[in-house]
Amino acid sequence: MNQFEKFSASELYCPKCRCSQPVYERLLLVLPNAEIYDIRCQQCATSLGQREARAPSLATQMTLNKAAATQKTPSRRRLRA
Ligand SMILES: [Zn+2]
Repeated sequence: MNQFEKFSASELYCPKCRCSQPVYERLLLVLPNAEIYDIRCQQCATSLGQREARAPSLATQMTLNKAAATQKTPSRRRLRA
């Protein structure tokens, strides 16, 4: 996981440019628990690989929002009463 993050942030060797080039990521596919990014050369847009980004933070955020919502409702009632 860390390896992928490191290499996606840095430059990659592009076979078309025949040298190391900065890359950008393009969202390729959205799965229920992950997103697939296409890693492309910024110079010639050649696809150099794919990266899978899992999204556990989204589930955590939803759980947190739910918890916050359930906490707010009784506290308001208590304040009014
Ligand atoms: Zn290139």
